Amino acid sequence: MSTISERGRFCAVCGAIDEDLIDNLCEKCYKKEHPLEIELLKSLDVEICTKCGNIRVLSNNIDPWAKEENLEEVIREVVRSAVLSKFRSSDPYDVEFEDDIENDKIMNYGVKEFELRTKISMQPHEEFSAFEKDFTTRLKMVRTVCNDCFKFKSGYFEAILQVRADGRRMKDDELDRLENLINGMMKQYEDGKMTYILDLKVEPEGITAQVSTKLLASNLAREVRAQTAGKLSLAYEHKTTSKDGAEVYVNTYLVRLPEFGKNDIIDFEKDLWKVIAINDDQFRLVSLTNHEERKVVRKRVEINAKKRNEELVPREYMLVSTDGQTVVIMAMDNYENFDDNLERLPKNIEIGATIKGFLLDEKNYYIE
Ligand SMILES: [Zn+2]
Ligand SMILES: [Zn+2]
Repeated sequence: MSTISERGRFCAVCGAIDEDLIDNLCEKCYKKEHPLEIELLKSLDVEICTKCGNIRVLSNNIDPWAKEENLEEVIREVVRSAVLSKFRSSDPYDVEFEDDIENDKIMNYGVKEFELRTKISMQPHEEFSAFEKDFTTRLKMVRTVCNDCFKFKSGYFEAILQVRADGRRMKDDELDRLENLINGMMKQYEDGKMTYILDLKVEPEGITAQVSTKLLASNLAREVRAQTAGKLSLAYEHKTTSKDGAEVYVNTYLVRLPEFGKNDIIDFEKDLWKVIAINDDQFRLVSLTNHEERKVVRKRVEINAKKRNEELVPREYMLVSTDGQTVVIMAMDNYENFDDNLERLPKNIEIGATIKGFLLDEKNYYIE
């Protein structure tokens, strides 16, 4: 048993006699002076976007679709961490939660509130019993439309994607291919935030789309360019006003497709050629006079070549016989036989095989 005279320990504030004082304070006074540093959240808004299900708590955005759990678990997790974010302590602590959140009631108009009870305890000093805080937070379910959905609803977009062909209309198969390419890319972005196309116009003049963000538009434009050997240009800052009255700077990403493309028939340097391929720097052509391939600098072709696609009349032929130098060809439309030079035929055509070609300027050409 201790006595006052032996120990001489008085609380500096209340004068209580105690064996265990810290900084000359009894447990009661010490706890009063050093409360747990936590801001007690009396209520917390849980904003739920009715469009996309996005949850926002204390300016934290959570996409429930990105998580495996059901909505109840997701909300539980986010409100708990919101409460704990207001607790500042580097010392270890225990926390217990209790709530009445119910999955079925979350989106129900009738139930707008839940309760979260938090019990925090920590024992920074052996001499004293644990420090405890016990409080209840009202969780208000607020049904709303999140920023992203609001933008989408109001027709918000930051960029325009344009695909045009140089000096010509676009071909149907070209348009189909590009439409598929763009739709295919958009599939990858399906779950992304703010990745959408407002309208995709596919017309003979080309493709035009309003694209949610500049980044998405530039990704799409780059892919189109890469697939078509087109040229990409960017027109900055065309200012427009969105439906909600905000000023928006719209970038236009323009991909210009080359005038000549794969399978086009062109006049170039006094010969007739079929375009096999085109890339950023050169054309691969095959001569329809001797079926030799040639690579030509892109610019030279673009400046000097003339397209003949519109003038030619498709025709089918059959190789009847050959003596190694000349051939006998039959036209399949009128069964007329005539001679030609072997080198004017594609390589390795067998006797009896059909050959696709065309008539141009009253001369027969053989493609494949
Ligand atoms: Zn005291
Ligand atoms: Zn939303």
